[in-house]
Amino acid sequence: MGADPRRTCIACRTADSASGLVRLAWPAGTGQPVVDRLAPGRGAWLHPTESCIGALRPGDLARAFRRTVSPDEMGGAVAACRAAAARVGGSG
Ligand SMILES: [Zn+2]
Repeated sequence: MGADPRRTCIACRTADSASGLVRLAWPAGTGQPVVDRLAPGRGAWLHPTESCIGALRPGDLARAFRRTVSPDEMGGAVAACRAAAARVGGSG
């Protein structure tokens, strides 16, 4: 096994191993960001914890994806992150 790549959480700006973060992607034509580690294009990494999901701001996503983020899109991203956090059993 090679070294685990490090990524920076867009909410708390702390670098951590990629395996401990979830990756948000925003494929073209998709109405909101989705949690997908393999989707092409820009990605945004986030700790799957309530503290980081709760601290996420639209500006964080706008910066990561270089586009504007509507309240609906923001809500969808947060919901996707919470679903992913539940899957990985994150306890934050
Ligand atoms: Zn974080």
